[in-house]
Amino acid sequence: MATDTVPVENIADPSAKKQKPDSEWRAILSPEQFRVLRQKGTERANTGRFEDHEEQGVYTCAACDTPLYKSTTKFHSGCGWPAFYDAIPGAVSRHEDSSFGMTRIEITCTACGGHLGHVFKGEGFATPTDERHCVNSISLSFHDNDGKITSG
Ligand SMILES: [Zn+2]
Repeated sequence: MATDTVPVENIADPSAKKQKPDSEWRAILSPEQFRVLRQKGTERANTGRFEDHEEQGVYTCAACDTPLYKSTTKFHSGCGWPAFYDAIPGAVSRHEDSSFGMTRIEITCTACGGHLGHVFKGEGFATPTDERHCVNSISLSFHDNDGKITSG
């Protein structure tokens, strides 16, 4: 029985307002975006467009365009992916992730549930939070202060 509607019990986060079934995401997203955002993949280190991106503006979810991070919270971690020390309040949800034999904190877009990356704490970076939001570039779009949009 094929259906394009999302059964209510499959919506993990009741605050998520922009959820869609995977069949719709597949039509909207590139195959690599789908692999990262919907299947919790990780782009290869040092390949993302935004790792060394230093323009001023706002990073939004590549899937649903909700604003997630301001460029003012971005810092260079050297880890191979864009790093932010804080998200826009409420925009990013945290979940415990025990895959690969590690306990990590997964971060997702609160609005659509798209996978963004992980948060690491206490690494000693000289930032106000001592947290590193390690985010896949491909999960983000960038809006500069003139309204120009760049895909990750
Ligand atoms: Zn989203």
